[in-house]
Amino acid sequence: PSLSKLLVVSTVGGGSLLAFSDDRPFQRVSNDGGQKPECNKKKKVVVLGTGWAATSFLKNLKSDSYEVQVVSPRNYFAFTPLLPSVTSGTVEARSVVEPIRNIVKKRGYQIDFKEAECLKIDASKKILHCKSAQATNLGGKEEFTVDYDILIIAVGAQVNTFNTPGVSEYAHFLKEVEDAQKLRNTVIDCFERASLPSVSDEERKRILHFVVVGGGPVGVEFAAELHDIVVQDISKLYPSVSNLAKITLLEAGDHILNMYDKRITQFAETKFQRDGIDLKTGSMVTKVSEKDVSSKDRATGQCSTLPYGLVVWSTGIAPRPVILDFMKQIGQGSRRVLATDEWLRVEGCDNVYALGDCATINQRKVMEDISAIFGQAKTNDAGHLNKQEFREVIGDITERYPQVELYLKKSKVKNMVALLDKYEGEIDIEKFEKALSEVDTQMKNLPATAQVAAQQGEYLAKCFNRMEKCEMYPEGPRRFRTSGQHRFHPFRYKHFGQFAPLGGEQTAAQLPGDWVSIGHSTQWLWYSVYASKLVSWRTRMLVVSDWFRRYIFGRDTSRI
Ligand code: FAD
Repeated sequence: PSLSKLLVVSTVGGGSLLAFSDDRPFQRVSNDGGQKPECNKKKKVVVLGTGWAATSFLKNLKSDSYEVQVVSPRNYFAFTPLLPSVTSGTVEARSVVEPIRNIVKKRGYQIDFKEAECLKIDASKKILHCKSAQATNLGGKEEFTVDYDILIIAVGAQVNTFNTPGVSEYAHFLKEVEDAQKLRNTVIDCFERASLPSVSDEERKRILHFVVVGGGPVGVEFAAELHDIVVQDISKLYPSVSNLAKITLLEAGDHILNMYDKRITQFAETKFQRDGIDLKTGSMVTKVSEKDVSSKDRATGQCSTLPYGLVVWSTGIAPRPVILDFMKQIGQGSRRVLATDEWLRVEGCDNVYALGDCATINQRKVMEDISAIFGQAKTNDAGHLNKQEFREVIGDITERYPQVELYLKKSKVKNMVALLDKYEGEIDIEKFEKALSEVDTQMKNLPATAQVAAQQGEYLAKCFNRMEKCEMYPEGPRRFRTSGQHRFHPFRYKHFGQFAPLGGEQTAAQLPGDWVSIGHSTQWLWYSVYASKLVSWRTRMLVVSDWFRRYIFGRDTSRI
């Protein structure tokens, strides 16, 4: 049953309880300490995707209570943080993937896996319309339907082209394993083509101009990997043309890696300049044609054209068509991303959960928190702040946490601010600031990362593992009784820090508590963290041996 319909419990004669749920409206369950619910049929849980969120869910699920079916066009899990290393041949593609069947088999259960893409979610009939994956020998022609009791959507997202003309046709992406393999071959191809005697010098320069669009972590890491392969391997193997190679990074904002600490941004920008990577910040790409990238300088409005041999587009993500269609069906058509509540339940839909890059947790809860904080501040007699100071605090906070401003503008909060205007008493600023910083953490720390997706998968699996017990003992463990809202704690993200590999065996790391570490030693931390995070011992062995292989023999530049 949906988590949204809370089990409404009342004690009736004979010590049994009446539980209300949507698919078994009044089901008698026992509180005699062990008997299972009368209806024992396993619920059919369908998981869409085999990425970070879905795999983490499957790894943590104790499937005895569920019949699990997985639908995904990929029959493997890919360790995306190492994809930039695949583009340069530092790591082989097969070293970063693990068959999904292997992963779940190790957990002691089998899944029913269908290598297919979900084309449409029909939430009213609880049916999925699917098509066999393009890669299979059925060539994406077989269509079928799958029904579900509970649906877990973890289909990730697609590259956001912002409808820029020519991007889909001419640019390369770095999202999937195939993209990384294609990029690896295309880079080598550029050097082979530039080495042909019939090519003019001007054409040679164009072919060896690599343009990266987007200064986020993926774009920056790719540029750094590309620079490494040119300096460490290409220069030895293609001595006649390697000095013509040029890397340009175009970023629309004022800085690259702008979600990182300023120290990291500065270090990265200085390092790139030193390495000869042409960094053009404030440059909006307006068009990509077969041989040129057109861009506009945000400050001056000046347009320019860059001839290129390879352009890589890495400017963020957007929802997949199947999600956009689903959002329309459930009344979320006006939103930009599929919204869930804090228990990862899709809003406006029963028995459907969404996690990872394909969804976002609605900030309504944040607004409620802000309301609560204001309410608390208003009634706090032991405070140390008068109205004028309070105004200043709000000013400071909105300056420091600009996203709160957005919430202040929304009517509900505006009303509260108006109420506060009348308030003459004192406010406990410490409590107020603490609460707001918590709000800020919740708002800020949910980027589209593997870390968030994996934690959400694990959280949801743990809820599912306890669901049956909760149905047997609907009043729940004592600690949840007072929450009044739900049987489970809402999802809370724990941030463990983030890395930004910058090439030349140097990495920057931003760790919790505003710790920043940059340099060669951090590269070793990166090696050990990523080796430990790999999904199996097999991939761990493969990746570590790839690192050794690269160190001893250099990168393999064969174009296969
Ligand atoms: P995904 O991992 O993308 O998985 C989506 C799954 O859904 C896939 O199996 C896909 O085949 C399947 N699917 C797609 N469409 C359908 C459909 N219609 N029906 C059924 N299944 C479907 N994050 C970090 O935290 N640290 C990093 O260092 C980092 N580096 C990255 C480097 C690169 C190059 C990239 C591209 C991403 C990186 N990320 C990193 C981000 C991270 O990979 C994503 O946030 C994460 O993959 C999101 O997980 P997900 O499960 O939501 O989606």
